[in-house]
Amino acid sequence: MIPVNEPLLDGNERRYVTECIDSGWISSEGPFVERFERELAGRVERRHGIAVCNGTAALELAIAGLGLQPGDEVLMPTFTIISCAAAVIRRGCVPVLVDSDSKTWNMDVNQLEGRITPKTRAVMVVHIYGLPVDMDAIARVARKHGLLVIEDASQMLGQTFRGQPCGSFGDISTFSFYPNKHITTGEGGMVLTNDEGLAARCRSLRNLCFSSRRFIHEELGYNFRMSNLQAALGVAQLERLDEFVARKRQMGNLYSRLLSDLDCLEMMPLSTNYAENIFWVFGAVLHDSVPFEASEAMARLGSRQIATRPFFWPMHEQPVFRNMGLFGGERYPVAERLARRGFYIPSGMALQKAQMEMVVTAVKELFSADNYQPTRAI
Ligand SMILES: *Cc1c(COP(=O)(O)O)cnc(C)c1O
Repeated sequence: MIPVNEPLLDGNERRYVTECIDSGWISSEGPFVERFERELAGRVERRHGIAVCNGTAALELAIAGLGLQPGDEVLMPTFTIISCAAAVIRRGCVPVLVDSDSKTWNMDVNQLEGRITPKTRAVMVVHIYGLPVDMDAIARVARKHGLLVIEDASQMLGQTFRGQPCGSFGDISTFSFYPNKHITTGEGGMVLTNDEGLAARCRSLRNLCFSSRRFIHEELGYNFRMSNLQAALGVAQLERLDEFVARKRQMGNLYSRLLSDLDCLEMMPLSTNYAENIFWVFGAVLHDSVPFEASEAMARLGSRQIATRPFFWPMHEQPVFRNMGLFGGERYPVAERLARRGFYIPSGMALQKAQMEMVVTAVKELFSADNYQPTRAI
């Protein structure tokens, strides 16, 4: 099977993890945590980094740190991972959804203002798959309406918007270091900000809000700490970020070129006027003329030993949120189409060129004349 993602761990990872074990520092108290925070913050040009146990926790910490109150509305894309909406809902806030742009698959910034109400307090920006959201447009709307900006840059470490690093925008930004991200710590995440007070608040919330007299708490916090073992991996991975990003771009450009003659596949643009695509994943959307859905394409590629993943499923179509009485009757046609017509193909760091060529051959065969009929009911 050609895996959809496989990380590369053959740099200093083993050496640094061994250092943790040899020194006995394996918990969050060890020195790699602070080093990883400092180095990642430096890389994305932020003053403060607060390492946490995963990217979902990073989002929840960001919402809590900003002091958003129950009932506050937060604008966000419907086409994203559930972590974004979950973080908002768990703090008692209300996610207000925005449809996607059909070209970049990011939140359509032109629809943002139409969704603002007197209760809107913040916008959660999520860069999806390879191109950043238009941060100039976000800044304009945020300034005009006095909104806080949370930037979920989990898929965009190493990417820039008009030359400025993703993860450096807004009041607070977050990353995930899950193994399919540009760098991995196995599980892990980070919250970043330039605001010293906000950073201190997030640090306290991350560690159960211990006060100066240990075991006395003025506020309810979380245990979202990252371990020294995880941070050791992070430091080693960060050393190779430029190489990893170059590799992703190379894979994205090669796939784009090899698949360019397929009219029946919609792919992300290689660049916009504000960024060059970083191809965190290589996604494809079946053109309306294709008589089957992404699930069918994925099943056929699977039978050829090629792993794929479906696109996100929109938040307004999630059973869990419907059952909570959220988003009733709301429709976001672009996101709904992406969810049903889109999938992504292997592009892990360890993928070889010969494997990519096999993937391309199999994708092309999906559309060859004798294959155009679905193999099963859809
Ligand atoms: C991966 C991801 C997350 C969640 O991160 P975990 O570390 O898996 O909790 C959140 N937001 C985005 C955009 C992601 O890609």
